[in-house]
Amino acid sequence: MSLFGLPGVRLKHRKNTANIKPEPIPVPKSVTIPMSMHIGAPAVPCVAVGDAVRVGQRIAEAGAGLSSPIYSGVSGTVKKIDEITVSTGAKMRAVVIECDGAQTPVEGLTPPEVHDRESFLAAIRESGIVGLGGAGFPTVVKLNVPEGRVDTVVVNGAECEPYITSDTRTMLDESELVAEGLALVMKYLSIPNAIFGIEKNKPQCIAEMKRATAEMSGVSVRALPSLYPQGGEKVLVYHTTGRVIGEGKLPLDAGVIVVNCTTLASIAKYLRTGMPLVEKCVTVDGSAVREPKNLIVPIGTAVRDVIDACGGFSETPKKILSGGPMMGVALVDLDAPVLKQTNAVLVFGEKEAMPPRETACIRCGKCMDLCPLGLSPAEMANSFSQGDDASLEKLKVHLCMECGCCSYICPAKRNLVQSHRLAKARLRTYQQKQKELKEQKEQKEGASRGE
Ligand code: SF4
Ligand code: SF4
Repeated sequence: MSLFGLPGVRLKHRKNTANIKPEPIPVPKSVTIPMSMHIGAPAVPCVAVGDAVRVGQRIAEAGAGLSSPIYSGVSGTVKKIDEITVSTGAKMRAVVIECDGAQTPVEGLTPPEVHDRESFLAAIRESGIVGLGGAGFPTVVKLNVPEGRVDTVVVNGAECEPYITSDTRTMLDESELVAEGLALVMKYLSIPNAIFGIEKNKPQCIAEMKRATAEMSGVSVRALPSLYPQGGEKVLVYHTTGRVIGEGKLPLDAGVIVVNCTTLASIAKYLRTGMPLVEKCVTVDGSAVREPKNLIVPIGTAVRDVIDACGGFSETPKKILSGGPMMGVALVDLDAPVLKQTNAVLVFGEKEAMPPRETACIRCGKCMDLCPLGLSPAEMANSFSQGDDASLEKLKVHLCMECGCCSYICPAKRNLVQSHRLAKARLRTYQQKQKELKEQKEQKEGASRGE
């Protein structure tokens, strides 16, 4: 069992929208902008009900610690500041804005003044940009690395999930912005090298990024095998640089930072214009969408409006996903808003959405052979169903990146990834309890020694 011994699974790409240029969605009637679209503390609303807002206006300050500010992508009036339930089941506050349709930009918008590392990081903090590849990690935190510790930026252009083409379109339509964003990161963080990792199934993106970066020193573009999950951070770093990010370590420990190509384009746009992150390119596809498209969508737009902009449903939808078929989250509500990190809305009819019948494990070992992180998915699932938390810890279920390769390859159609997701949550509770028990024991021992 070795880390990255085998690189994952071959999937049908289904990149049906790769040649469809993104178009702006008609301005929705209202948007619902959640305060937690990033990893870390929720943002705190700085507008009140009844306030008029414009495009690019700050509506929420970053919370304490790890967080990100939030801006409006529409002009209109704040109608409500309310608690909503998002697709993960989490409850959070959201600012609801009734749009006036005029899309009036905020007055006096100017590019930030950037002249050194500190001012660059301050600008990124203000921009509201988070990792746009899906994780939603505040970009300023990722870029704020100790000087001299990183020698390579790995640019994630893998876009390995089937259907999704929003990064593909960024590389084709905004290659100059991607290159400019990369040049800014390399310049202000003093990082000498950069490697693009793009799957071979996107030859136009490879050619375009080679062209756009031809004059940049230290930058190369690597064509990677089309193997899911090529865009997983650890997998991508290994396949672009040959460096292994050890257990519990970060890319920084391997001397790299990984930045998504669309995140780089957003950095360049902000530094050019001062317009923060307010909209997102979203791929809308799947068997139950009448006219699949790539759309430019104000953050907070309801999924219902996004699907309407594609002609609505072509058949009764049975499953709606935010994200790709491998790692996306099923939505229960068409009012769910598009978030900063939403890159796709996929809608499937009965045939594709029906879960296959699960049967008993035949111990074929395929899941273990194909796990990109060398984990033991079948054993992890068994330990979870038996409630054996100590075994889950030993099997290192916490390292699972929920890529879904094991579920995909399993001939018994076992729902392995869902089991790992739940197992990770249960392991966190178990470890917390173990920690508390250990502390109590130490306190008792200390007391009996008269300390
Ligand atoms: S979901 Fe987790 S266990 Fe399954 S293949 Fe991916 S990393 Fe391995
Ligand atoms: S792939 Fe499925 S059937 Fe094979 S060992 Fe893993 S869980 Fe069992």
